[in-house]
Amino acid sequence: MYKTGRLLLFVLGIISFSLFSCHSNKSSEESQSGSATFKTPASIASFDADSAYVFVQKQVDFGPRIPNTPAHAQCAAWLIAKMKSYCDSVTIQRTKVSTHGNTYDCINIIGHFNPGNTTRILVLAHWDTRPFADAVPATAHEHFDGADDGGSGVADILEIARQLHIKKTTIGVDLFLTDVEDAGINGDDNSWGLGTQYWANQAKASGYHAQYGILLDMVGGKGSHFYREGFTKQFAGPQSLMVWNMGNSIGHSDYFRYNDLGGVEITDDHSFVNQIAGIPTMDIIALQGNGDFMPWHHTVNDNMKIIDKNTLKAVGQTVLQVLYDNPSY
Ligand SMILES: [Zn+2]
Repeated sequence: MYKTGRLLLFVLGIISFSLFSCHSNKSSEESQSGSATFKTPASIASFDADSAYVFVQKQVDFGPRIPNTPAHAQCAAWLIAKMKSYCDSVTIQRTKVSTHGNTYDCINIIGHFNPGNTTRILVLAHWDTRPFADAVPATAHEHFDGADDGGSGVADILEIARQLHIKKTTIGVDLFLTDVEDAGINGDDNSWGLGTQYWANQAKASGYHAQYGILLDMVGGKGSHFYREGFTKQFAGPQSLMVWNMGNSIGHSDYFRYNDLGGVEITDDHSFVNQIAGIPTMDIIALQGNGDFMPWHHTVNDNMKIIDKNTLKAVGQTVLQVLYDNPSY
């Protein structure tokens, strides 16, 4: 994924500093409207962070899951087996996708619960690893583990699948592990999310519909915070506010924050679910308060050392609770 909107952020930053320099917490009050009627659930979902952590470690142990490598193929086989063991049914899409002269084997894995139910929620995360640690020029040709970028979101989805297998939801749920998200080039929107673009075109053609989608990307890092970036607010405003409110109501207010990032937009898998499939989809993605990615993003430091069970749990439990309760928004 990559970020745009820095200039706007800079301009808005100057304006907001001028207007609100005496009220530095002003933005934290933004967009909590409706939360007054939001009730804490009677029973809290039992997301197991230890299990999720093991799922991150297992992916990392395969090596970087870079498309066209043995580690990628081996991890795909493991993910398919895990999803088949938990989900009511599993769809696998195998195709080839290309960008900037490179062609990649692409394996999308979609697990379904209650497949006959027309009321559905989509949860997705990419499982591929970016082929290069190019956030730092000196390591632009090195690989990295992708523990947070890719690994954490997939781990939370696997643990959600494990829990849904134990205790069913009333609604239908689709858990989508997307491939070849992270081989893109900054500035070229369509070079990102290649597996999701393929899926979204198929979904649109087949008439698939979900109420909304929740993308998990970088949801396991120490000290992570989650702010609603521009596309999330634009395409899934009420839905994402409901999810943020849920996170706050079950005790994760330090993670799910309401501060305005001022024009920062993240091009990620949710962009294509929104724009191609027409399903309102949010991105739960770790960002710093100034809109920057976490320091380990696309660097060799994205490894198990920065993975925190508390972060995995805050996001996983919130999403699981949403799936069980299906709150209005
Ligand atoms: Zn990435």
